[in-house]
Amino acid sequence: MRQTFLPDQPFSRHLRKTRKALGCACLVLAFGAGLRAAEPAPKKVKITAARIWELWPKVKVSPSDPYQLRGPDVQSALNDLRKKSKGALRVEFEGRSAEGRPLPLAQWGQGDLKILLWSQMHGDEPTATAALLDLLHFLVSQPKHKLVRQLQERLQLFFIPMLNPDGAERTRRRNAQGIDINRDALTLTTPEGRFLKEIRDRYRPEIGFNLHNQDRRTSAGETRKPVMISLLAVAYEPGGGNNLGRVRSKKICSLIYEALGPYCYGGMARYDDSFNVRAFGDRMSAWGTYTVLIESGWPGKGGEEFLVRVNFLALLKALQALADGSVQDANPAVYDALPENQGGLIFSRIFRGITVWNGNAAGPFTTDVGLNFNESFDGKKQRQERGAVADVGDLSVFAGEKEVAAGGWVVSPSDLKEGSPQGEIVPGARTLYFYRRKTPAAGVEFSNLEPAGRLLQGAWEESP
Ligand SMILES: [Zn+2]
Repeated sequence: MRQTFLPDQPFSRHLRKTRKALGCACLVLAFGAGLRAAEPAPKKVKITAARIWELWPKVKVSPSDPYQLRGPDVQSALNDLRKKSKGALRVEFEGRSAEGRPLPLAQWGQGDLKILLWSQMHGDEPTATAALLDLLHFLVSQPKHKLVRQLQERLQLFFIPMLNPDGAERTRRRNAQGIDINRDALTLTTPEGRFLKEIRDRYRPEIGFNLHNQDRRTSAGETRKPVMISLLAVAYEPGGGNNLGRVRSKKICSLIYEALGPYCYGGMARYDDSFNVRAFGDRMSAWGTYTVLIESGWPGKGGEEFLVRVNFLALLKALQALADGSVQDANPAVYDALPENQGGLIFSRIFRGITVWNGNAAGPFTTDVGLNFNESFDGKKQRQERGAVADVGDLSVFAGEKEVAAGGWVVSPSDLKEGSPQGEIVPGARTLYFYRRKTPAAGVEFSNLEPAGRLLQGAWEESP
């Protein structure tokens, strides 16, 4: 069943309707999907998503830009947390990356239900690493908090924040061998992949959380609204069967969706759920550690910190429901009804109705120009965005993160001060000159144009 979520519908009303519509369909699935139904139900700790949201600024220890995090930062943060925990948190660095950087394992809680959470197996995806540090700080700094006490009693948590410190050092996806660790679950060529597998085999956690970042220009289904968080109840076999473990993963995703609703409504989607035989989440699930994938995407106006906070809430809410058993009450069909991730519908910037002047025989014409910006890093690890033309033509079916009504604008492949333009504005072009007309006029008389900005070898410069 698929349902399109209308972004203008209030979240609470949407939720009521979804629950009503889906309630009957999943009675069978909902029944018996909790794998620990035989145990006496623990007391439920009442703490709302809103209270967890408000908790985060008080416990946050991560840097405001998670992209600044490197292996040594994670090490020293974990060592500080260990000292603070007075024995509650065990931290070891027994693993080594391809370049010999320590791989951490932090262990907390005395319960029976074992859960493994790992982040940043792709070196340039640090948002959840920051959230894990904040979450650990909450656990060790507030041992008397009723939620912390319950989590400690019921759960045993294994954290691997930043599985790929070599990739993080380079701000790139792959490890120092040039291998994508998340395609290494079968051959285990990477030491990082072997470490993750070894930890799984040693402790045999029932549940895994695999934490990533995805392209911020992903759309929630056809909505052209950018996805802030996408969720995946990872398949354990080709064809996507629904055994008890997978249904529980779906229930966890449904719970997360409902908790995040007030903050991310319209910006949540389901990740591609086809079974990927080489990927860790899929293998983990096949090995019996049923895994939930959380992908952080578009940060919106709140920036990366917003997504760190969202991850903190998602994870803590999921852990709470696993600890008190309320995960059993969740409706897996809420997850099934999420729109799917869709790429290619969102550009970073679209100039609508702009006059394009390439200076060739085609003459000036009016159309849309879309640019995509991707992050890159200079030698000092400062983030910068580099852009290029993504498409030219009728872009009415696409959305821009930024939309520019460019009816009075002219764009040229070269500086018009120098004379007639040279070059072409085609996908991949990285240098463009933008002008605004001083007075409305059809032509491209230079005397009627003032510079509006330029893209110079990919770098955007606004004209003063
Ligand atoms: Zn990733």
